[in-house]
Amino acid sequence: MYKTDTIAAIATALGESAIGIVRLSGDEAIEIASKVFKGKNLNNVDSHTINYGHIIDPETGKVIDEVMVSVLKAPRSYTTEDSVEINSHGGIMAIQRVLEVVLANGARLAEPGEFSKRAFLNGRIDLSQAEAVMDLIQAKTDKAMDASMNQLQGSLSTKIRSLRQEMLDTLAQVEVTIDYPEYDDVEEMSLKQLNETAVHVKEQIQKILHQAQHGRLFRDGINTAIIGRPNVGKSSLLNRLTGLEKAIVTDIEGTTRDTIEEYVNVRGVPLRLIDTAGIRQTDEVVERIGVERSRKVMEEADLVILILNQAQALQEVDIELLELTKDQNRIILLNKQDLEPQLTHADLEPYIQDADLIATSMLEESGIAELEAQIEQRFFSGEIKSGDVNYLLNTRHTQLLRQAISSLDEVLESTEMMLPVDLIQMDFTRAWDLLGEITGDSVQDELLNKLFSQFCLGK
Ligand code: GDP
Ligand code: ZN
Repeated sequence: MYKTDTIAAIATALGESAIGIVRLSGDEAIEIASKVFKGKNLNNVDSHTINYGHIIDPETGKVIDEVMVSVLKAPRSYTTEDSVEINSHGGIMAIQRVLEVVLANGARLAEPGEFSKRAFLNGRIDLSQAEAVMDLIQAKTDKAMDASMNQLQGSLSTKIRSLRQEMLDTLAQVEVTIDYPEYDDVEEMSLKQLNETAVHVKEQIQKILHQAQHGRLFRDGINTAIIGRPNVGKSSLLNRLTGLEKAIVTDIEGTTRDTIEEYVNVRGVPLRLIDTAGIRQTDEVVERIGVERSRKVMEEADLVILILNQAQALQEVDIELLELTKDQNRIILLNKQDLEPQLTHADLEPYIQDADLIATSMLEESGIAELEAQIEQRFFSGEIKSGDVNYLLNTRHTQLLRQAISSLDEVLESTEMMLPVDLIQMDFTRAWDLLGEITGDSVQDELLNKLFSQFCLGK
C-alpha cells in the first residue's frame, strides 16, 4: 500500500496560550513519536488516549520537555491519518526543540495548510470548511470565532448544497419534460421551471452575500472613525477604548505616539479605528485639514463617532462635521460634561435627526459604558443577530457567488426572451458548477495548492 509521509509542525494555538502543540500526521506518526517519547510505549496504547511522559533526544538521552501526548489513530483524526499531538507547556523554545527532535527522527516539516489539505483530500472536511479553519486562525474576536465555527461546521456548505440540489432537480424535471414532446407547451413549461428556480437561487445567493457583508464586519472589524475638532477629546476616547496609558494624552497638543493599536474590542465588537495617527495631529491648520481629512476617512467608515466639546459654544467646524456625517451611521458624544455647559441640545437641534447623543466626560470616565453599550446594541441587536447564520466568505467565495448570480441573470434574461431551452440549460449548469467550486466538488490541483498554502503552519 502507498505510504503517506509523516508531516509535523507546531500547531499554534489561537491567541496567547501557555501550552504549545506539535502535531504529527501520517503512517509513521506514532512510531516516530514513540522514538522520542519516554513513558508508555505509544505503539501499544489505545487510540484517543492522552499519555504523560517526557520528550527526549534519543541520541543523547537528554530530556527536552515534560509533555502530554495524544494518540489519534486513523481514521478518527483531523486528517484521517494516524496522528499524534504533543502538548508541551515549556514555552516556545521547548516547543521548537520538540519539533526539531521529531523532524530528526523521520518526520518532514509540514507545508503551510498541509494538515487541512490532507483532511480535505481524505474527505474529512470540504473546501469551505477548510477555509473556515483559515478564518478561525485569523479571527479577531470571540464573535468572529463563532461565525468561523459555524462555517467550519458546514453552514455555508449545507446551504450551497441544498441550492445545488434544487437546481439539479429542476434540470432533471426539464429533461423529463423534454422527453415528452407530445405535450405542446413543453418549451413553455421548461422555461417556467428554469426561470422560477433561477429567481429563487439568485435570491438565496444574494441573501448569503448580504449576511456575509455583516460577516466581514466581524472578521475585519467595523471601520470606525473618531472625528471632531482639535482638543475635543478624541485621543482621550481612543485611550479609553484601547485601554492605553492615560499619560499619553497631554495638555501640550501635538503629543503623538508613533503607533497605536488599530483594533479594539468593545464588548465583542471588533472596531478597526481608522486614521488614528490623524487624530493626534494638531496645530492651527488642522481646523481646515481636519474637515478634509474627516471627509476622506468617513468614506471608509461603517461607524462615525463625532465628538463635540459641550464646554464651548458650537463652532463652524462642528457644524460642518455634523452636516458631513448626517447620513452616516454615527454616534455623537457631548464631551467634557465635567465642565460648565455652553452647548445645549437646542443648539444642536437643527443638525441632528435621530442621532444618538451621549454625554461623556473622558476625565471622569463617564458615559463610556453607555457608548460601548450603544455600539454593542447597534451591531448585535440588529440584522446580524436575527439572521439565522452568519457566513464568513473569503474573496474566492464572493467571486464565485457573484459569477453564479451573473450566470443566473443570463438564465433569467434568456427565459424572458424565450430562447431555446438547451441554451438556457448551459447557463443554468454553469451557475451550478460555480457553486460546486465553493464546496470543492470541482476544483483543480493548482487552485488547491494555492488555497492551502495560505494556511498557517500546523493547520
Ligand atoms: P483631541 O485633540 O481631540 O485628541 O483631544 P485630547 O483627547 O488630546 O484632549 C485635549 C485636552 O482635553 C486634554 O487636556 C484632555 O485631558 C482634555 N479632555 C479630554 N476629555 C475631557 C473631559 O471630558 N473633560 C475635561 N475636563 N477635559 C478633557
Ligand atoms: Zn489630541
